[in-house]
Amino acid sequence: PLILGVETSCDETGVGIVRGRTLLANAVASSMDEHVRYGGVVPEVASRAHLEAFAPTVQRALGEAGVSLRDLDGIAVTAGPGLSGALMVGVAAAKSLAQGLNVPVYGVNHLVAHVAVDLLDEACTLDAEPTVALLVSGGHTEILVLRDVAQDVELLGATIDDAAGEAFDKTARLLGLPYPGGPSISAAAMGTYSDDGQPGRRDALRFPRGLSRADDLRPERGHRYNFSFSGLKTAVARRLEQAERDGEELRLADVAASFEEAVVDVLTAKAVLACRDLGIPRLLLGGGVAANRRLRELLAERCEEAGIALRVPPLPLCTDNGAMIAALGAELVRRGQSPSAQDFGAISSLDVEDVLV
Ligand code: ATP
Ligand code: MG
Ligand code: FE
Repeated sequence: PLILGVETSCDETGVGIVRGRTLLANAVASSMDEHVRYGGVVPEVASRAHLEAFAPTVQRALGEAGVSLRDLDGIAVTAGPGLSGALMVGVAAAKSLAQGLNVPVYGVNHLVAHVAVDLLDEACTLDAEPTVALLVSGGHTEILVLRDVAQDVELLGATIDDAAGEAFDKTARLLGLPYPGGPSISAAAMGTYSDDGQPGRRDALRFPRGLSRADDLRPERGHRYNFSFSGLKTAVARRLEQAERDGEELRLADVAASFEEAVVDVLTAKAVLACRDLGIPRLLLGGGVAANRRLRELLAERCEEAGIALRVPPLPLCTDNGAMIAALGAELVRRGQSPSAQDFGAISSLDVEDVLV
């Protein structure tokens, strides 16, 4: 089936087009520039930007794919989770378009789509074998068990406070680095903002690994697969204050590299632990934080050691985009799932286990 996917859950207006499991177009317009001076996404500004970007982005995707609206067999749209007003723009637009074209519309889960995007790669085994997924984004940090990406997604663990991306964003602010924090902390860790240009040492400062003590890992404590990053952010703040008091010169690159290592160490350790516990030797990485080079590197190392086959989607498919929504939509169509009811709406706190609304 030829499916168009619409994504408007945050600050990216994404329109993707797939034919079955083949990617034809992935057009993304971001309102990031408008949010930078506020240090975070402003919902009202994001909604307005989606309204303005929707039609041009659809046109751009159709052009890229070399198809016309009349060719579409269905439309998939992010129903949630995300910013309520932003989601509503996409849902309303997708429903109107579908009605005009007389094609079915599928309201899908943004988080599941972040990992279902792997279906667009020929080597993907997501439709054949159970897979553990590590979903790391601006608003979520979760370990999922995908027994069937179309209808059986289990939440194994999640952050109990900040998401990984949020930790990067908040810590960047603390360090005086620009928003979004993920890329700027990585750059700082590589020495970009330092006078000497030298990369930071990952072991220069010892920051906490949240919920990783033996006691936390005991299965009956319930935190074996959970994450916590708010203590890490506080530890960085305390360490900066201490250096200030003592007149100690901390290298920004060292702080950034040590912080990054603390996040990445816990994420990779727990994801590998989940694969081992469940006897599922397949791990799929997804979400915006998957763009992090150190995360990819350490995860690859640890998966290799543990005999786990690691899948990491290409960068442009890790951050928010319409192609991932189209990919999940196409899979639901292929499985013969019924489209969403005509009156479905945006669900800002949609549960990750609800693949289709
Ligand atoms: P969600 O998917 O949970 O609704 P979101 O869609 O806003 O949240 P994404 O677009 O998937 O999140 O990811 C954005 C996040 O990824 C931001 O927090 C950003 O700092 C982080 N990020 C982007 N690049 C990197 C990087 N290189 N290293 C670490 N984090 C990164
Ligand atoms: Mg974004
Ligand atoms: Fe996202």
